[in-house]
Amino acid sequence: MPLIAFIVGALIGSFLNVVIFRTPRKLSVIAPASACPTCHVAIRGRDNIPILSWILLGGKCRNCNSEISWRYPMVEMTTASIFALIVWHFSPTSISSVLELISLLYLAAISIVLALIDLDTHTLPNRIVLPSYIVGLLLMVGASISTGDLQPILRALMGSTLMWTLYFLMALAYPGGMGFGDVKTAGALGLFLGYLGWNVLVVGAFTAFALGGLFALWLLISKRANIKSGIPFGPWMLVGAWIGIFLGGGIAEKYLSLFRLGNGF
Ligand SMILES: [Zn+2]
Repeated sequence: MPLIAFIVGALIGSFLNVVIFRTPRKLSVIAPASACPTCHVAIRGRDNIPILSWILLGGKCRNCNSEISWRYPMVEMTTASIFALIVWHFSPTSISSVLELISLLYLAAISIVLALIDLDTHTLPNRIVLPSYIVGLLLMVGASISTGDLQPILRALMGSTLMWTLYFLMALAYPGGMGFGDVKTAGALGLFLGYLGWNVLVVGAFTAFALGGLFALWLLISKRANIKSGIPFGPWMLVGAWIGIFLGGGIAEKYLSLFRLGNGF
């Protein structure tokens, strides 16, 4: 299963490259077919195999020989690896867990897209962020109905509201540092993290602040940025969320087992 997820992830990663390039330019992500960014000649099927084609062509366009950024195979490799990791970590056993798995794979895909678009353009486009509320809620409602447990969906709504409010207050306090795109993205992440559990939400949100804060501090100390120049927070918010998803449960369990050990002795 993780191997299949890796291959599917690589193919989806190839599509995500198109989304990352075209969404900020307001272009269609469906048509036309992928073309070389320099000579605009359409890329042939055999040169469009994720990861492999870039390596076989030595990172160069077959037509004009211009360099093709290493970021393309990196996005494919990252998507493939995260997909494999998700399927391995959350191996589905029921209808509800299949729906949860799909929601996590979807979240992984948009996380990669949002992180790179934020790095490129310092924006988190509505076209990606807003549909994630609807897709996430539909999958979560489906999963909750199939288990008959409404607790997770309530937690998701509370998580979303909490994250939204927290980032909204920060955007008000530091208008230059945090934008409204961050607020909407935080709300979407809160939905997914809250669904998975309070511990996942807390670890995800805290890790984002810790990483983003350390990065900002490093930028300020090394004089690569100043208070006014703004620091992209989106990528850290997304990385933090994924650390919460993979380790949130584990960290909370470790804490609890320590507590139990303490009681036992
Ligand atoms: Zn070319």
